[in-house]
Amino acid sequence: MTTCDFCGRQESDDAATLTWTTSVEHGRRKTYCDTCSRTHLRAMEGKLDTEFW
Ligand SMILES: [Zn+2]
Repeated sequence: MTTCDFCGRQESDDAATLTWTTSVEHGRRKTYCDTCSRTHLRAMEGKLDTEFW
């Protein structure tokens, strides 16, 4: 069972979680579902963009 740390979505199918993203932030392991991965990546890109200003 994998749980998305962003929206709380749970997925018990290992094959379905292959598209999920795992990242380590502040020493903690975070897991994001495919939908949130896209949202999260976009948010991170947005942050990068903001740093340029
Ligand atoms: Zn999610």
